[in-house]
Amino acid sequence: MADRIINILTNASYESKKTAERLSSSLLERGFKPFYGFDGDAELSICIGGDGSFLKTAHNNNFPRIPFVGINTGHLGFYQEIIPGKIDEFLDSYMEGKYSRSQIKLVKADIYTKNKVFKQYAVNEMVLKASHSKLVHINVFIDSNHLEKFSGDGLLISTPSGSTAYNFSSGGAIVHPSLHVLQLNPISPVNSSAYRSLGSSIIVPGGHTISLVLEKRYASANLLLVDGAENFYTNLHRVNLRLSNKYITKLVFSENSYWNNLKDKFL
Ligand code: NAP
Repeated sequence: MADRIINILTNASYESKKTAERLSSSLLERGFKPFYGFDGDAELSICIGGDGSFLKTAHNNNFPRIPFVGINTGHLGFYQEIIPGKIDEFLDSYMEGKYSRSQIKLVKADIYTKNKVFKQYAVNEMVLKASHSKLVHINVFIDSNHLEKFSGDGLLISTPSGSTAYNFSSGGAIVHPSLHVLQLNPISPVNSSAYRSLGSSIIVPGGHTISLVLEKRYASANLLLVDGAENFYTNLHRVNLRLSNKYITKLVFSENSYWNNLKDKFL
């Protein structure tokens, strides 16, 4: 019979490493083959840490198709359902197939600079800003319809799963992960006689393309935050964003976990 490999991906904290050791022996007791790192033949990846560790794991392994489950040793742990004290219960449920699957949809950006086109994917969000904390001026199009000329700190485009992160802190709505949408959220929009921008976020169908076109005179250095990671682009002209066909599968063990999680983590 083929080995049943389970990836263990952990951050460097003491608690995470201890949790990984306990997880590894519980897996061996049940006949699984634990692998520290990412093996493409594994049936499951278990990520130990907080949301930040999960995001890093997803990016470093190119948003793998292998389903994942998170054990929370971080601060918030919105993606991390399992608590370290419940590893055995979780593994029993896993072996009995007592879980459902939830899709974490990604946002895709095509980034057009003067000479090159780049591609980026994010789990939570992308944020387009000027570098050096300058005011940014962006023409916003939805499927080539001009919507507004935004002026402010930046524009944040969040996925449904990312809506509880930076988007929520910036006054955006929480969106259930089952919805096929993106959220366009202005960060500190300017509203004056000189500039006028929408002051609240817009929910955009996932199949529509949000185009952010920078005013030419500001096109020399801009910052695109991709799940919090900084990417600087010179001569950036346009960023096209849409909900990607790529997704990450998360195993969900408790019923109604989304709503309970929301209440536990935010209220
Ligand atoms: P970080 O700045 O070290 O931590 C960001 C915080 O956001 C952590 O508490 C993290 O949870 C939490 N978080 C991440 N994804 C979440 C989600 N989908 N729902 C609810 N909370 C979430 O950065 P990081 O750990 O590398 O994470 C990157 C993320 O930070 C970005 O994608 C962005 O959403 C967020 N961020 C938020 C703000 C803000 O709220 N003003 C500013 C910058 C970046 P854990 O404690 O479990 O790791």
